[in-house]
Amino acid sequence: MSEVVLVDAHCHVHEYSDEEIKSFGNIRIAGVAMDYESSGATLELAKRFRNIDPFVGLHPWNLHKNLDELENIKRLAVSCGASGLGEVGVDLRFARAPFKEQLKVFSEICELAVENGLPLNVHALGGWDSVVKTCIKLGVKSLLLHWYTGPLELLKEIRDASYFISINPAVTIQQKHMHILREADMDIILTESDGPYNYRGVELTPKSLPGLLNTIASVKRLTVAEASRLIYENYLRFLGASR
Ligand SMILES: [Zn+2]
Repeated sequence: MSEVVLVDAHCHVHEYSDEEIKSFGNIRIAGVAMDYESSGATLELAKRFRNIDPFVGLHPWNLHKNLDELENIKRLAVSCGASGLGEVGVDLRFARAPFKEQLKVFSEICELAVENGLPLNVHALGGWDSVVKTCIKLGVKSLLLHWYTGPLELLKEIRDASYFISINPAVTIQQKHMHILREADMDIILTESDGPYNYRGVELTPKSLPGLLNTIASVKRLTVAEASRLIYENYLRFLGASR
C-alpha cells in the first residue's frame, strides 16, 4: 500500500509550540501568516521544520491597522524564500477596511504573486467571485480559496483556471461546505485545518486531518490512499508556481 501523505494547506502554524508541531508528525503544512510579525515567525519555523511551507501575508481583518506593514511583508515574500503569499484576500463580513480598499490591496498582492511566480493562499469570505475574477484578470497562476463556502456555480470557473479550494474538518457539521465537497471535482480539492481554531465546538488542528481525509474518501468513493495521493498531487501543483 502506498504511503499516505497528509496535507494541511492552510494552517496558522506559528500559533503552535515546537512540541505541538512535532506531535503533528510528517503532515505537509502550508503555514499562513496574519501580519508582518507572524510572517517572520512562519519563515523561522520553516527553517526548523522541513514539513512546513512558509507563506507570508496580511490578513484582510488586519488591513485597517497593519497596512503600513505591507511593503515589508512584500519584501519578505521575495527575498526570504517564502513558498507563497497568505493569508491574504478580502472579507465582506468581518473585515473593518472598506471592500474597495481590500480589493485594491489584494490586486497589489496578485501583481506581486504574478511577478514572482508565487501561489496565493486566500481568505475570501463573501467575496469569492471578486477574488476569482481579479486573479484571472491579473494572470494569477496558482490560487487556493481556503475553506471554500462560495457559490457552487463558481466551481467550474475555479477548475477552468486550474485554481484550488480547500476542505476544512468543519465539513462534517457545516452543510454548505459538505455540498461543496460533494460537487467539487477531486482535482481542485486540498485539505486544511485552519488551526488552531474552534468552530462551533469542533477543534480544528492538523490532528483533524486523518479524519477529514476519511470523510473525503468516503464522499468521493475513493480509498484513503487514493484520496491522499490525489490531494498531495494537487498540493504540489498548487505550490508549483513557486518552484
Ligand atoms: Zn486562516
